[in-house]
Amino acid sequence: MLDTILPEGLRFGVLFDRLTSVHSIYIRAEEASASFRARNGLSCPPGCGRCCEGFIPDILPLEASYLAAWLVRNRPERALRMADSGTLPSNLRGCPLYDPDRPDAHCTVYPGRPLICRLFAFSGVRTRTGSPSYSLCREMPGLPPPRSGTRSWEGPALEDLFGTPPLMSDFGAELEGIVPGDGSRREALPEALPAAICQILFLAGLGGKDDPSTDDNDPVLPPLPRAS
Ligand code: SF4
Ligand code: SF4
Repeated sequence: MLDTILPEGLRFGVLFDRLTSVHSIYIRAEEASASFRARNGLSCPPGCGRCCEGFIPDILPLEASYLAAWLVRNRPERALRMADSGTLPSNLRGCPLYDPDRPDAHCTVYPGRPLICRLFAFSGVRTRTGSPSYSLCREMPGLPPPRSGTRSWEGPALEDLFGTPPLMSDFGAELEGIVPGDGSRREALPEALPAAICQILFLAGLGGKDDPSTDDNDPVLPPLPRAS
């Protein structure tokens, strides 16, 4: 499966190992989200994509690398245009990778999308006390009794009515743990992605023009995308 994500020149080394870890976390997150959705009969209205409007994901350097690798492997011409851009053009509707006119999936990078997009609406968060909480997306229709009357649940009511949802923060912590310290290097997707594509092109031997810097914390390996 990973061979449909990564360009051929990138299938070895430390970055490959790290992206393999990202892939494994993404797969588990999606399975947990799908299971929560199925056992609770939750779904999005057909054609809805409102969560991508007015929203721009903040992503980890490794998430930018994963998405960049998918683009280079699967949408090379678009990847080259993005690499040249320096930053993605703003989209007044929100995420620059969102296309409201596509009939089926509005996300134009669906297999490469970041964690938050894989879990949104079918995962929970931790409250201040650390207990799980789940909120129904405001675009989803209300639920029949006994779950009607509110759109947020926690504590025993959550357990009784939905069971424990997958938690965004837990999968996020796993991602941040792949490269310690990465959590502080989050960047908005439009800024992070072009630089990550340059790095992937360079590392995959596809002619990226970026000159990778060395990372003091990782002298062995080629630089992950830099925060600029
Ligand atoms: S999560 Fe909410 S806003 Fe996003 S597609 Fe589903 S119903 Fe629409
Ligand atoms: S990456 Fe895709 S799913 Fe995520 S906000 Fe952008 S368009 Fe939406």
